[in-house]
Amino acid sequence: MMKFGTRAVHAGEEPDLSKSGDVVSPIHLSSTFARRIVEKPTGGLEYSRTGNPTRLALERRLASLEGAKHALAFSSGMAAEATLLLSVLKKGDRVVAGDDLYGGTVRIFETTLRKFGVSFTYVDTRNLEAVKHALERRPAIAWLESPTNPLMHLCDIRSIAKAASRVGAITVVDNTFASPFLQNPLSLGADVVVHSTTKYIGGHSDVVGGALMMSDDELFQSVKFNQNAIGAVPSPFDCFLVLRGSKTLHLRMQRHSENAQKVAEFLSHHRKFSAVHYPGLKDHPQFGLAKRQMKMPGGMLSAEMKGGMPEVRRFLKELNVFALAESLGGVESLVDHPATMTHASLSSERRKRLGIGDGLVRFSVGIEDAEDLIADLKGALG
Ligand SMILES: *Cc1c(COP(=O)(O)O)cnc(C)c1O
Repeated sequence: MMKFGTRAVHAGEEPDLSKSGDVVSPIHLSSTFARRIVEKPTGGLEYSRTGNPTRLALERRLASLEGAKHALAFSSGMAAEATLLLSVLKKGDRVVAGDDLYGGTVRIFETTLRKFGVSFTYVDTRNLEAVKHALERRPAIAWLESPTNPLMHLCDIRSIAKAASRVGAITVVDNTFASPFLQNPLSLGADVVVHSTTKYIGGHSDVVGGALMMSDDELFQSVKFNQNAIGAVPSPFDCFLVLRGSKTLHLRMQRHSENAQKVAEFLSHHRKFSAVHYPGLKDHPQFGLAKRQMKMPGGMLSAEMKGGMPEVRRFLKELNVFALAESLGGVESLVDHPATMTHASLSSERRKRLGIGDGLVRFSVGIEDAEDLIADLKGALG
């Protein structure tokens, strides 16, 4: 198999020299495809909800990046999750999930799926014994994220996937924070990888998209059937944007990680911060696991300011290069205040239990020059 960077640039987009020889996959806007005979569409495609050439190019690319046999592209990360869950679960099933998952994932579990008789057990996935204990309830799915948002907790994907398969559960890993360049859950024993391609894979904060990658043929056929049945498909233009973004994923992730390391080290030495959560810092409790499981520690980190809300407000207001915004994974640096922004919908009690206080600030470190990022932080803290 070719190396990651070569696959990021080329997989799924080989020029078709029998036709025009396009080097870049064209944006196929056609909603329907003609046939010569009634029995069979001429090029294998019939209708763009079911399949579209631009989407197929993206799906080949995405499969290659995660080392999967199959990939499906969706209109958002949530569309990918919803389609997967509706394909796998039935009434009476249980899901064992991390207790600090992406908020939208918990929302679909609690508001949509509970209505259909699915139950949920949340567990601190850093604790392998606790996970094994929860798996004794024989769930259909073990749903993991690593690293998590915003506290950068990791879980041992290989050990959990092994324990889950013993009880007949499939392991799903939301790999959005790491990206396929840093971590490949399928190679660690997971069954399905979820991505919000809105984040690192798209990488430019200009498209919303999602993806599922898997290697099991039967599961793939079932999810593909449901994607067409439900209609959770991305537009050809969105597919083009994600394809285009994915070509530089390896370069961007290296720079994101290098910059985040510098920002994390700067903040960890600053008197206004009491803690910095970044798996690339030696004092991160899972520094060793991060080294084993991830190629680099990534572009996301969070830090706790000592002065609470008044200090946080002042700091956020004074930043110039870091924009105050939700979302993450784009080339530009963003800063987020979880308690009032991304995690505001959690009850204050749940936020407290998870350790998301008013002083916590989350950074999505971009690919700018690190010197300018540090100078921006210094200026805002001065
Ligand atoms: C953003 C995000 C999602 C949801 O993806 P959308 O593209 O916004 O629908 C799921 N998981 C994680 C970890 C995310 O960051």
